[in-house]
Amino acid sequence: MTQRIVIAGAGFAGMWSALGAARVLDQAGRSADVEIALIAPKPELHVRPRLYEVDAGGMKAPLKEIFDAVGVRYIAGSVDAIRPDLHEVGIVAPDGSRSTLGYDRLVLATGSQLFRPEIPGLREHSFSVDQLDEAAALEAHIRGLADLPESAARNTVVVAGGGFTGLETATEMPARLREALGQDAKVRVIIVERNREIGPDLGPGPRPVIIQALTDLGVEWTLGAAVTAVDAGGITTDVGERIEALTVIWTAGMRASPLTAQIPAAKDRFGRLHVDRDLCVPGFDRIFATGDVAYAATDDEGNHASMSCQHAMNLGRSAGHNVAASLLGLPSLPYSQPKYVTCLDLGPWGAVYTEGWDRVVKLQGAEAKALKHQINTQWIYPPAANRDEALAAADPQRIVVA
Ligand SMILES: Cc1cc2nc3c(=O)[nH]c(=O)nc-3n(C[C@H](O)[C@H](O)[C@H](O)COP(=O)(O)OP(=O)(O)OC[C@H]3O[C@@H](n4cnc5c(N)ncnc54)[C@H](O)[C@@H]3O)c2cc1C
Repeated sequence: MTQRIVIAGAGFAGMWSALGAARVLDQAGRSADVEIALIAPKPELHVRPRLYEVDAGGMKAPLKEIFDAVGVRYIAGSVDAIRPDLHEVGIVAPDGSRSTLGYDRLVLATGSQLFRPEIPGLREHSFSVDQLDEAAALEAHIRGLADLPESAARNTVVVAGGGFTGLETATEMPARLREALGQDAKVRVIIVERNREIGPDLGPGPRPVIIQALTDLGVEWTLGAAVTAVDAGGITTDVGERIEALTVIWTAGMRASPLTAQIPAAKDRFGRLHVDRDLCVPGFDRIFATGDVAYAATDDEGNHASMSCQHAMNLGRSAGHNVAASLLGLPSLPYSQPKYVTCLDLGPWGAVYTEGWDRVVKLQGAEAKALKHQINTQWIYPPAANRDEALAAADPQRIVVA
């Protein structure tokens, strides 16, 4: 091996970057000359879009066999330093030992995390569905509620944030609470949303469907109220409301991986690195950013990728292709993903599926739920650990949503 591509992160973007790069090396007959090394804490894909569901702790898929099949070297650890001048990253291994690894090209794919503002009690007393271990902790807590004496607070879940994740979480909660507390339990689920509309970023298109689903499921919501304090017994809002609840789930806001701060380049308000159409960071011709750490144009109309699995998978394939092409001196394939859809789960009520950036409703109820099920149980999972199949699936020009 004379050259090395380093990929940081094994999420949707990191996994597909590795496969995309391996595909280009394979096609060019250069697999023996260039090492692809992927660094992540675990060789598994955490299926974050499913973490609001029951059995969240099991929402992961193994990756080691796939990496072995396509010749990607997996390194267990976390990147804690990026040194663009030296072309190397610092790594902390699971046993705490440190090392450095040089790169000819780097793909940053370390994803995003829930943003928790400095609200008193938020860190100590709230749950989330953002990372696998956090969702598993919420699940254990919900199961443990049955051991506590009956009270309104025990039977109440507050979901802070009425955006995409808050809605998917809240609409699952009545059934999950009844499963834990008994079908006759008087459960209460309430969304607290700071904006004046439910689903503020989803726009007016799907809102009537969302309101219908919340109403039918008995989920309450309060608008124009921000959580100002959380304690062991509930929350307080800035309009002075107190809600007694033993379960508070924070869903409001995402931020790109803090590693982006180590690259002195332009970023958006979520900490995402601006990238060019090849997903290279301007001014750093050896560094590519992809998935939730990239602020990338999806088309020529001014739209940009959202922090979503939908975009992370295609961004990953494109970053993998382009990082390998740049190393080998081959033509790049500019990232382009003009079709945008959303499929919002609405618990046992169903789902709502929209198309376009103005989110025109195309399916709702059971029909949309069947599509959501297909997305969440098939489309977003890794390909089989078969070299030819995995490399074919990594083609950035493959149309996933037609
Ligand atoms: C509850 C929930 C519901 C969602 N629903 C949807 C949905 O319906 N549709 C949709 O499109 N999207 C959805 N999303 C968003 C989607 O999950 C993310 O946009 C997607 O996971 C981003 O992929 P990624 O590969 O960029 O990052 P991630 O999936 O966050 O992966 C990041 C990877 O980097 C690794 N990593 C992190 N830090 C380091 C480090 N320092 N060193 C090395 N490795 C590191 C992590 O371990 C992980 O392997 C949802 C998210 C949540 C939480």
